[in-house]
Amino acid sequence: AKSAGGNRFELADPEADARAITRHGLTTALPTALDRGEFFIEYQPLVHLGDGSVRGAEALVRWLHPQHGVLSPDRFIPLAEHTGLIVPLGRWVLEQSVRQAREWRERHGGAESLGPLRINVNLSPCQLTHPGLVQDTVDILERTGVAPDALCLEVTESALIGADDDLLKPLRRLAEMGVDIALDDFGTGYSNLANLRRLPVSVLKLDRSFTQSMQQFPADPVDLKIVEGIVSLAHSLDLAVTVEGVETGAQAEQLRILGCDTAQGWYYARPGPPERLHELALVDATG
Ligand code: C2E
Ligand code: CA
Ligand code: CA
Ligand code: CA
Repeated sequence: AKSAGGNRFELADPEADARAITRHGLTTALPTALDRGEFFIEYQPLVHLGDGSVRGAEALVRWLHPQHGVLSPDRFIPLAEHTGLIVPLGRWVLEQSVRQAREWRERHGGAESLGPLRINVNLSPCQLTHPGLVQDTVDILERTGVAPDALCLEVTESALIGADDDLLKPLRRLAEMGVDIALDDFGTGYSNLANLRRLPVSVLKLDRSFTQSMQQFPADPVDLKIVEGIVSLAHSLDLAVTVEGVETGAQAEQLRILGCDTAQGWYYARPGPPERLHELALVDATG
């Protein structure tokens, strides 16, 4: 820290300056990054808690920036939302991911024991309000020949809090077509649980904070009750429960006992290239 007596300008936080400069630089570079092919997608497996089989994967976008290296989505998704690039970027992620799902399915065609791998793709709130969402999704599924039920779109709970019918209409259309809708980061948004009945969702993705509280064995009794309550409510509404951020076997075991259906986290695999998912699924099927 700067000692007293320095002038006001010297008192500025140099790290904050660096962050602001980087943010400005990233915002400037963002619009052309898509055309330059600087984005890529990693896939993280979704594992069935009951039998440990790989059921699919979540697509997670990264930016390979020519100067800064690989940037995590938390660094650039907010900028993409702010500049509007999220619409073409989100469409690109959707198309790449669905193509990837088709490739997995084709490569798995010969292996009887392998169930069809599904693909989860994140949707930003800006994409929800964009009028092209339903048509873009239909076009991508038709172009790739992938069935709608192989796709799950993840929308955060906070994006749907207080959502009116106009916002829900495109999600309803997609759900009617057979696309699954998952409520991401569930449990962080203080939404009215009764509200769940209004939403066209078929999966709850329990936020990582719940998984973290399962670190101790036995876990905090209040957290156990909360998760137990969410799972029983979800199942009574015919919703599946996915847990994220599973880092240890103890967490997986607790969450399995609590009745959660599917899990995702470093305990199973970090996000990685698409070939990795194919290998994991194959190993899984052959024992
Ligand atoms: P999210 O949808 O909640 O994704 C889960 C995040 O948790 C990912 O971070 C994933 O890498 C991380 N994760 C997975 N397993 C573990 C674990 O065991 N422990 C811990 N500590 N973390 C784990 P990531 O890849 O950095 O993505 C961050 C967020 O960026 C995502 O959160 C999502 O909201 C957003 N995002 C990623 N890809 C896209 C995209 O294509 N479109 C949009 N709109 N948002 C995206
Ligand atoms: Ca997600
Ligand atoms: Ca999440
Ligand atoms: Ca999250």
